[in-house]
Formats: sequence, C-alpha cells, structure tokens
Amino acid sequence: MQLKGSPHTVDFIVPVYNEAMNIHLFEEKLSSVMNAELPKVDYKIIFINDGSSDDSWNRIEGLSEKLPNIIGINFARNFGKEAAIESGLTQSQSDAAIVIDADLQHPIDLVPSMISAWINEGYKIVSAVKSERQSESYVMRTFASAYYHLFTKICGFNIQKASDFKLLDKEIITKYLSMPEQERFFRGLIAWMGYPEKKLDFRPLERAEGESSWSIFQLFSYAKNSLLAFSYAPLKLIGVFSYLMLLISFILVFHSLYTWATGNAHEGFTTVIILQLFTTSIIMVGLHAISSYIAKIYDELKGRPRFLVQQAVGLDDQTKKAGDLVYDQAGNM
Ligand code: UDP
Ligand code: MG
Repeated sequence: MQLKGSPHTVDFIVPVYNEAMNIHLFEEKLSSVMNAELPKVDYKIIFINDGSSDDSWNRIEGLSEKLPNIIGINFARNFGKEAAIESGLTQSQSDAAIVIDADLQHPIDLVPSMISAWINEGYKIVSAVKSERQSESYVMRTFASAYYHLFTKICGFNIQKASDFKLLDKEIITKYLSMPEQERFFRGLIAWMGYPEKKLDFRPLERAEGESSWSIFQLFSYAKNSLLAFSYAPLKLIGVFSYLMLLISFILVFHSLYTWATGNAHEGFTTVIILQLFTTSIIMVGLHAISSYIAKIYDELKGRPRFLVQQAVGLDDQTKKAGDLVYDQAGNM
C-alpha cells in the first residue's frame, strides 16, 4: 500500500482482560499484516493488562522481552476497558493510535485501510463501523436497537454501529485526554467531538479464544451510564411525570367531588390502592434518576485516579520520562 509523505508512527492500544490465549495470536497476525502491507510504518503495540486473573501479564512480559516494539502496562486490578483505553492513549507517543480488541474480533485486515484513510485522505478519526451486530439473541438485538434509537433521539448523535475500533490522530488523542471527566465513554465522546470521521464497515469476527466478559448486568449499567453521561433526559422526565400526575389528580379530584356532591360516592378501595402504588412507583423512579446523577457528581468530585498502574515493561527512557509525568497526573507510580 502506498502512503503519502514522511515515515509515520502508529501505536496499537490493546486492552486485555483474561486474553492469555490471544496475546501471541494477536501479535503474530498484526505483524504479518503490517510487514506485508505497510513495511514502512513504524509501530508499537501497547498491551494494557486490566487485572486479568489468567496468565495474560506473563505472556505480555515474555513478548516484550523478545520484541522491542511491545509495551506492557499492568493495572493493579480490573478497572474496566474504558480505563485501559485511556491508559494506553496516555502512553502513546506516536503520530496516531489505533484502539483494537485483543480477542481478534476486530479484523486486523482493516488496519491498512484505516492508516491509508488517515495519511492519504487526511482524516483525523477513522472509525470501524459494525455492518452487522455480533451473533446475539433476537431479544438482545431488539433491546439494543431500541436503546440506540432512544440514545440518538435524546443525545443528538448516533452510536448504534460505533465500535471502539478506531484510529485517532495525535491531535484528537491530546484533546480526548484533556477532557476532565472521570466517567468516560470512549466511542460516545469521540462521536461527541464532532470531527469529520472516515467510517469503514466491518463484520465483527468470532472471538479467537475465551468468552466475552460482559454480563447482562454490565451491559445494562453500560447503557445507563452512557445515557447519563450525555443527557439530563431522566431528570426532565421527572418533570413530565409530575405534570402528568397533576393533571390526573385534577381529574380525579373533580370526579370525587362530583360523586360526593351527587351522593353517589362509593368506597373506592381499589382506586386508592392503584393510585398509591402508581404514585409511589413514579416517585421511586424519580428518586432513582436523581440519585444516579448525585452518584456521578460524587464520583467526579472525588477525582480519584481512573486506574492504577502496578508495573510497566518495554518503555524506553524517553517514553518513561513522559510516562512518569503521566503517572503523576493520574496519581500513580
Ligand atoms: N476488556 C478489558 N477490561 C474489561 C473487559 C474487557 O480490558 O474489564 C478487553 C478485552 O480483553 C477485549 C476488549 O476489552 O480485548 C473487549 O472485551 P470483550 O471481548 O469482553 O467485549 P465484546 O467483544 O463482547 O464487546
Ligand atoms: Mg470481544
């Protein structure tokens, strides 16, 4: 593949959680694609071990001893994929970074086209977009689709087919890292930035080894957090409900007074029960929405580091210096 201009450098940011079986596979596949198609692009792979309980870290360390272009960051515990991405971007010193999963579900064959769109076409963001969703059940697909519709309506930008598989120019990385918030939603924040984006379709592949680590509960909380991070809609909804309840109350008060005045008032026990349950539920839902935002404010105020790095391998002296600075800011090392 022909690339314009001077030599370019790229970092691959690879979050790793229990991917021991995939580390070597990933490196082999990536190096064969890069050597064959883009031999002039100088690249590093930054593996961020996000508190894996398997052998992942040993494999990363082993690889880093063998190959000069492997960097390993070892988190003290599992801080989540978002934290792993941020840590990798913080360490990136190259002209661009590509965030990619370790489990080979993001097709490495797409990498040359991403790099070409960045260098030859000048895009600062190149996003791989899922042309179809992974093999999910019908129910999951329906829920996901309904959620993304709602998200687009409320937040004003569409993340339905977005994935974390992205190339970001250094300029975008700097701006992304300068955002002060604790709670991060990588693909949402990049879409929110609004830069022109080159979109490349891909079909997510089956996992090479192991299982996806997302539980239903985690998926639900991911959906909820991403909505809370980009909109006040749940709080506005409380307002809508309160006016609705006021309207219903007026009608019922009028109706009750009328039946009382005309001597037709009956005991209405069922109505009272239903009304009570209904109003209490709405109040509880409202409280939940408010408490969710309070929890977010609390998290932001605490300002704790979003991840703690226990050790790192493969950083050269120059990177280490920059790394130390970065660690200080993030509150670790
Ligand atoms: N991952 C991570 N921390 C976590 C969960 C996942 O770093 O707490 C990594 C994982 O190793 C993989 C990527 O994030 O490289 C995507 O995870 P997974 O395959 O479980 O998600 P899915 O493909 O189902 O979206
Ligand atoms: Mg996966």
